[in-house]
Amino acid sequence: MKSKMILMMGGQGVGKGTHARRLIARDGYGYVETGAILRGLPPESPVAQIMARGELVPDADLFDVIAAELDKSGDVILDGFPRTLGQAQWLVQKYVDKFDIRVIYMDVPEDIMLARIEKRIREGGGRADDADAAIVRRRLDAFWKTTMPAIEWLRNAPGVKFADVDVTNENPDVNFERISAALS
Ligand code: AMP
Repeated sequence: MKSKMILMMGGQGVGKGTHARRLIARDGYGYVETGAILRGLPPESPVAQIMARGELVPDADLFDVIAAELDKSGDVILDGFPRTLGQAQWLVQKYVDKFDIRVIYMDVPEDIMLARIEKRIREGGGRADDADAAIVRRRLDAFWKTTMPAIEWLRNAPGVKFADVDVTNENPDVNFERISAALS
């Protein structure tokens, strides 16, 4: 039987990590949190410097890292990968035979993303790349320009089940219920 792979997709601050951790606590998936893996690299490394500018890390620097995680995974949730069309196509081509791939697209307007990032700062979830408005803007631009084409491609990719989930409710429990319903 194939393992399950859930891709949590959406812009900054939509709640990908929060809801991923909740699904994991409930259902026991493995967790591949790309941003956290990359933040573990030494600050002087080229990848860390790209991240500090709010830009995307080149696809080629990620494939080995992600493959190492997935090759040892059973049921798994990916948070922050894929973020480009190339990453999406690589992932589906390489893993569609091993995993049932489901996409949860957490659709949220930009003003709500910005409000949630501000809340994350206020609540001390302190990440260096959240604190600077220009860097937040660059990450949002990368989402619309580079990640949206990947999401649109996944919507119709063979072997992929895609769900649009409205997570704009102010109550995270309501949003989590909607994600659970989309997965059931
Ligand atoms: P995140 O914690 O998911 O917001 O990721 C933080 C930063 O890590 C991003 O702004 C990018 O610089 C980098 N990053 C994370 N995931 C990816 C990815 N799939 N492709 C390219 N860069 C990434």
